[in-house]
Amino acid sequence: MSHDATAPMLSPMTTSSSQTRSKVPAIILLLAAIIAGGAIGWWILGSSDAPSSTYSWAPPNGLEPKRAFGYLEKICEFGPRPSGTPAIEKLQTYLIEHFKSIGTTVETQEFEVRHPLDGSPVTMKNIIVRIAPELKRRVLICTHYDTRPFPDYDPVNPQGVFIGANDGASGPALFQEIAPQLMKMDLKVGVDLIMFDGEELIFENDGTKGEYFLGSKHFATRYVSDPKDFTYEAGILVDMIADKELQLYYERNSYDFARNLVRDVWSIAAKMKIREFVARTRHTVRDDHLPLNEIARIPTIDIIDFDYPRPSTRGQKYWHTEQDIPENCSGESICKVGAVLLEWIKGLK
Ligand SMILES: [Zn+2]
Repeated sequence: MSHDATAPMLSPMTTSSSQTRSKVPAIILLLAAIIAGGAIGWWILGSSDAPSSTYSWAPPNGLEPKRAFGYLEKICEFGPRPSGTPAIEKLQTYLIEHFKSIGTTVETQEFEVRHPLDGSPVTMKNIIVRIAPELKRRVLICTHYDTRPFPDYDPVNPQGVFIGANDGASGPALFQEIAPQLMKMDLKVGVDLIMFDGEELIFENDGTKGEYFLGSKHFATRYVSDPKDFTYEAGILVDMIADKELQLYYERNSYDFARNLVRDVWSIAAKMKIREFVARTRHTVRDDHLPLNEIARIPTIDIIDFDYPRPSTRGQKYWHTEQDIPENCSGESICKVGAVLLEWIKGLK
């Protein structure tokens, strides 16, 4: 994803201005105050935004957190997976074979872009898993499966190794977990699970070395230029949904484009007592849902945990750092989002 349209370009994808890099000195001061403050510090960290994932939860619909986490780990074992690398090619083969082996119809959408650093051709591949492809009324659930080339927000090693457990692996792992359950359901509306390539082949946040959302832009453009015999009635993007300390707020762009869908999804979560869905806006995130809304005109929302690890830890972030690893993710988080998505699909008439 990318930065808030209203935020300064210096921070790639933020959110509220209180979290831009320019506030780092303030963060250090705050941390110093917390350390000095002892019990007061605890109180700040333990404020009302504290994660609520400690309650016991029984996954419905045959979802299994352990298995979901296993998928995430397996994807991470391919190593860093930026677009056009041998590692992402191996992941493509793995994902395509996996989804074919469970009996879904898999389509791919290939296209070429120029590498932002040297202009060499890079082949991109969107992977589309079609469930009940015969149905003409359809919805889509989408995610990205490429990883950012470097952990450029890592305070210690910004040119280090970026594994993208949450930001890259969590979406495909969720799809692996829910696809068999979807196939067992008596669907009234067909579902396409779409994995976008090229969400962030980004080497410089100022827009000079890389462009965001290449896969979703290509998909949205083709949807308009080569119409099929079906249309998508709605879309849900999932991104960074495996955070161990999951907190999912309304995302403002989603709320502007598809308010009813946002409300529907969060009220389903409330009925299911999945407390990680917090029914109020917090961040504005530019992500793969924008081309779907703006180019394809498919009302699409983004389910994203942009606070990784949690809202109240202002000095500590795993996003785009070397800390975006399986140890900071949870299969239960994946399944909580999966459970809400399955319930939403069940309710489509
Ligand atoms: Zn990212």
